[in-house]
Amino acid sequence: MNIILLGPAGSGKSTIAESFSKYLEDEGYSAGVVNLDSASPPRYSPISDVREFVRAEEVMEKEGLGINGALLRSMELAAEHLDDLIPKDGWDFVIYDTPGQLELFMYTSFGRELVSRLESFTVGVFLADSTRVTSPSTYSAMIAQSAIVTLMLEIPSITAFNKSDRARVKEFEHYARELEGEGVLGEFFEKLLKFVEATSVIYRPVLVSAKTGEGFDELFSAVNEVFCACGDLS
Ligand code: GDP
Ligand code: MG
Repeated sequence: MNIILLGPAGSGKSTIAESFSKYLEDEGYSAGVVNLDSASPPRYSPISDVREFVRAEEVMEKEGLGINGALLRSMELAAEHLDDLIPKDGWDFVIYDTPGQLELFMYTSFGRELVSRLESFTVGVFLADSTRVTSPSTYSAMIAQSAIVTLMLEIPSITAFNKSDRARVKEFEHYARELEGEGVLGEFFEKLLKFVEATSVIYRPVLVSAKTGEGFDELFSAVNEVFCACGDLS
């Protein structure tokens, strides 16, 4: 099975790539991490690393590009190495750690290209930073972004709120109640729930901590739940 970690910069993708792969190994599975972030050397030992082929800082220098242009160009260059990056032999789980800038993955063809080449079941885990959830609107914006992952990559996705050792987001219903009768935002939230139900299998967000491993059992159950619900489609 493939797990693609997505989410805004700093939400903890690289940290959870390492700690969740260790968790899976402790559960008796073989698990490896593929680094797809051409701008950051991973702190873990990846089974394959895009930086062996493309380094954003070198693209910047060689092609005389600014940081954003270099990151975009790096994705184009990396797409040519997908065959080398996707591991061939039988891992139970391959976790893909993606670039800090979510939009690079979402709005270039790289993400779709990757998904189209993966042969086994693939689930997206959208990682949000719990410390940035300060209101029903920030919460709903993150849930909506997670649903967009499903639409853009055509894979089921799970929303995981990371850093729950520092801040715990509340239940969906709590925010829904808070917004009830609150005009446009309340109405939007109600519709969002239907949208999320339609676009991803699990709309119940999972609370995790990449640092402490809290919530990893729930995350693993959610991954399996998605697999059981969609497995026959892959
Ligand atoms: P990425 O850009 O999404 O890959 O994020 P990183 O994995 O590089 O993490 C960004 C920062 O958040 C680092 O300083 C991590 O140590 C920190 N971090 C990641 N996960 C957690 C967590 O669960 N709890 C806390 N407290 N910090 C975390
Ligand atoms: Mg990272």
